[in-house]
Amino acid sequence: MKIKAVVCDWAGTTIDYGSRAPIIGFQQAFAKFGVTLDPALIRQDLGLDKRAHVQKMLEDAAIWQPISQQLASTSQQFVTDTVYKEFQETINQALVETAILKPGVSTLLAYLTEKHIAVATTSGYTQAMIEKLLPTVASQGYHPRVNITSELTGGIGRPHSAMLDLAIKRLGLTDSSGVIKVGDTINDIKEGVAAGAISVGVVEGSNLIGMSETEFTALPQSEQTQLKVAARAQFYASGANYVVTTIADVIPLIEQLEQQAARSNAPLLLTPGPLTTSESVKAVMMVDHGTWDDEYKKMTQHIRRQLLELASAEASDFSAVLLQGSGTYGVEATLETIPKDSSATLLIAINGAYGQRMSEIADRIGVKHLDLIFDETEPVDLDKVSDFVTVHPEITHFAVVHGETTTGILNPIETLIPAMVDRNIVTIVDAMSTFGGIPINVNQLNVDYLISSSNKCVQGVPGFSFVIANVHQLTQTAGNARSLSLDLYDQWRCFEDHDGKWRFTSPTHVVYAFEQALLELKQEGGVAKRYQRYSENEARLRQRMVAAGFTPILTPTVQSPVITSFKYPSESFRFRDFYLYLKERGFIIYPGKVSKMNSFRIGNIGEIYPTDIDRLVDLIQAYVSEPVQS
Ligand SMILES: *Cc1c(COP(=O)(O)O)cnc(C)c1O
Repeated sequence: MKIKAVVCDWAGTTIDYGSRAPIIGFQQAFAKFGVTLDPALIRQDLGLDKRAHVQKMLEDAAIWQPISQQLASTSQQFVTDTVYKEFQETINQALVETAILKPGVSTLLAYLTEKHIAVATTSGYTQAMIEKLLPTVASQGYHPRVNITSELTGGIGRPHSAMLDLAIKRLGLTDSSGVIKVGDTINDIKEGVAAGAISVGVVEGSNLIGMSETEFTALPQSEQTQLKVAARAQFYASGANYVVTTIADVIPLIEQLEQQAARSNAPLLLTPGPLTTSESVKAVMMVDHGTWDDEYKKMTQHIRRQLLELASAEASDFSAVLLQGSGTYGVEATLETIPKDSSATLLIAINGAYGQRMSEIADRIGVKHLDLIFDETEPVDLDKVSDFVTVHPEITHFAVVHGETTTGILNPIETLIPAMVDRNIVTIVDAMSTFGGIPINVNQLNVDYLISSSNKCVQGVPGFSFVIANVHQLTQTAGNARSLSLDLYDQWRCFEDHDGKWRFTSPTHVVYAFEQALLELKQEGGVAKRYQRYSENEARLRQRMVAAGFTPILTPTVQSPVITSFKYPSESFRFRDFYLYLKERGFIIYPGKVSKMNSFRIGNIGEIYPTDIDRLVDLIQAYVSEPVQS
């Protein structure tokens, strides 16, 4: 669930540690009529509408008697009104004195502002009292957007939901879903529950503990703990959904609620890619960004530099060119750099659908090409490629897929590319599904074009591809492209000549998310660590699937950790049924792409961990032992 608003109580919750003001106010007001009130008695009903609270205390004969005598009246209404009027005087003074933000409030407010989560208040105070408080807290940086008292709800205060309902309405929300109510009294909790909001109690500085910060911190640690434990229990007993220690702890609570919801609503994508991204990568996209400003261009340049670093590509020889569109756009733009006359011939080594796709692109755009086709379950063979090139001296360009996502097979670019470079052949590698997840050293390979996209192993969302290009090679390709939007040379020049400016509108949200994804790749420990995690996922998947009776299509020696293909377990196996069964239980897998046999695929990349693989295979085991028809 997306959290949309936080509605806070005032004294004891956001200001006035220990909720001292009402106590002082009541004590002083009742003292005027000769009655000394026990703070504990006052605290019992704090959070109530203040007139109702006065009335309630007057129900106690020991309090009623002396006051009614002094006022020479037995009219309940008159006595209540008189005492309440006195209280309004005394509280005003106490209010301003105690209107200091509690520890953690500023931190929470900064977080809510950044996340565009609205803040409102409901109160047992009167409208006049709130108006006194607002400028005092505004000077401390607190500006709640909506402030409700029972005067606005026809006198209906807590524990009813009327004030909270109205606050929600005035915030422009249709209902209480995604609304957190934070308070420090039992009546606060009940109000939140009654409105159907997420009702949260704050322990420290609350009315339930009822002490000033100095009093509380002077207590021995064990006593502090005891009081906190008791307050927690009381909150929960009155129906609180959550209890937090300080109000700043509402921040991790929001994060937790949003992540839980995102995870439980959205199945994990085991379909590289798009693949499962982290919550933090997705969260970056919740803000609209412009493209023209310097910050954005700087970020684009930062991304381009980081891609070179990830590829171990020397900045003097290589440049990263980003291009709007999916990975295929990057492949097509790269093939567009090849001259479309008899001066160039492209050799494509094919052992799957993505190699086949390059052949199709070459056909469409008029690049002369020769295809060398291998079995889909066999890696591209260096000797066969070398022999072929020897027989065809007209070959000027060579293209191969690194990780063929058709099966999950890994082609040996470490030997293939240098061998072609030795023959002065321009080399192109589709490293779409491997870059960022399997170490690749562009400098060592000396490959001319290495292509990948935002939504594979870097773990960003779909929206652009990128090409790590040898600048000495790319420089020679001006004017080769017949396409305007897929002109890699022009795209590159625009980034170079205008400090990171994208040619044409760029997928801003995707680019911001990608910057975050790069940061998270670094935090994980870089490509080597990510490779290790993917490998663990793959090993676990393979081992457990074999134990469950499935046969992988590839032998482990040629298998990449990216995606694993399995044969159908039996003649009667129905993929669609299997797919829906898993989807309903939180996992999306891939149909097979191998042409000569029935298969399905499971991806190991993305924000996926061995424990996810375990949950998946548990489900698969349950399915095969007792097929459920969805
Ligand atoms: C994902 C992928 C592509 C690009 O496919 P799009 O659908 O355009 O993103 C190309 N090659 C390989 C090996 C891939 O895995």
